Amino acid sequence: MLPVIALVGRPNVGKSTLFNRLTRSRDALVADLPGLTRDRKYGEGKLGERDYIVIDTGGISGDEAGIDKAMAEQSLLAIDEADVVLFLVDARAGINPADEMIADHLRRQQKTCHLVVNKVDGLDPDVARSDFFALGIGEPLTIAAAHGRGVTALIDYALDELGIAVPDEQDAEEKEYDQSVRIAVVGRPNVGKSTLVNRMLGEDRVVVYDQAGTTRDSIYIPYEREGQPYTLIDTAGVRRRKHIREAVEKFSIVKTLQAIKDANVVVAVIDAREGVTEQDLHMLGFVIDSGRALVVALNKWDGMTQEQKESVKTQVERRLAFAAFARFHFISALHGSGVGDLYGSINEAYRCAMAKWSTNQLTRLLEDVVADHQPPTVNNRRIKLRYAHQGGSNPPIIVVHGNQTDALPGAYKRYLENRFTKLLKVKGTPMRFEFRTGD
Ligand code: GDP
Ligand code: GDP
Repeated sequence: MLPVIALVGRPNVGKSTLFNRLTRSRDALVADLPGLTRDRKYGEGKLGERDYIVIDTGGISGDEAGIDKAMAEQSLLAIDEADVVLFLVDARAGINPADEMIADHLRRQQKTCHLVVNKVDGLDPDVARSDFFALGIGEPLTIAAAHGRGVTALIDYALDELGIAVPDEQDAEEKEYDQSVRIAVVGRPNVGKSTLVNRMLGEDRVVVYDQAGTTRDSIYIPYEREGQPYTLIDTAGVRRRKHIREAVEKFSIVKTLQAIKDANVVVAVIDAREGVTEQDLHMLGFVIDSGRALVVALNKWDGMTQEQKESVKTQVERRLAFAAFARFHFISALHGSGVGDLYGSINEAYRCAMAKWSTNQLTRLLEDVVADHQPPTVNNRRIKLRYAHQGGSNPPIIVVHGNQTDALPGAYKRYLENRFTKLLKVKGTPMRFEFRTGD
């Protein structure tokens, strides 16, 4: 499980700046749930060997009608989901009443928390931090988020304190030994995840879970279908629910991100009646960034008029073109139509994501593709691509070796990528290409 870091503090202390430094995902996921007045942003990041999830909780200005209310609305859930809270203050502004209110609040939480003094660029860090001992949150740490100063040390320190070790080979090996296809079913609240999970498992084997577990943990359900073992990572909870309210409370972006990271294949569920929303797009962006194989299920296809169906299909073609590598299914989880067909696409996506190709095979393919269309000449020398090998799976990584590969135009790279994807018959998974000069 990835550790979760929450950034809190009043507006303008530098939370977004730090968030952007810490995340590498193209898209931050934004929680736009009812009852939240401000955005919480979620992103995934990596420093050194360690992955983590960061939440930017939005600002707490102190002008709200009471800190508890403000915290409850914007940050409590995020703090609740976090393993560690980084409380940011502004070295140039000194202590502000809003800082004191936040500090008060944090002192009452049972949560690991570090005080981070930002914007120490051009200041003496020791002098800058000395003011902030008064907040009573412990040793202030200093950074300059805008310049990246102290950021790696801060995260190392925070993760070390949590006892999170640099991952060893064992995690990777364990996953390798797990022969089951790990499927995560993800989507916004109420799109039909629970209904679909029940369908996928088969109505007769609905298991009632009454785990007291935290909102953060998904349930892992191992099962077999036509001789193939699967593990379904259920972010929705198959337990029948009494209230819609519960659905909203149970939805957790952290849980969704964790499930995506831990899956081989993601089934992204979209409510066809609502059309493709911003949050659906962000989520698909995140799946692609994480390199997972993808199957898209447009749910609630029952009872829609022909006109509505056409309009959704057009929207899907236009807005989801960036996920065109995936197969799309139009289903009704409620009635079960189209649900069985998902397995064909899941299996195909898994097979492609895990495929192994020899250096020989990839190099022959490279030679053919290059013979059809030569790379351009740069500085009077033709760019040469000599051989290719596989650098990883799920997502498949193809490493192309040659000379002057830095000078390869984007259009030529795309040509190679398209040809490889086509000739290797890869479907349902993103592919990554790396270009290296030398060896
Ligand atoms: P947020 O409201 O807490 O998310 O704050 P922002 O990240 O938007 O930053 C507020 C302002 O502080 C912006 O103008 C940033 O450029 C600036 N800022 C952020 N980090 C630093 C820093 O390390 N040094 C300085 N000098 N300015 C910073
Ligand atoms: P979750 O929050 O994503 O787990 O969504 P649920 O599975 O709880 O479904 C939310 C609501 O949508 C429930 O009232 C379901 O009965 C309904 N629903 C789910 N799938 C379908 C479907 O295919 N068609 C229709 N019409 N309703 C559905």
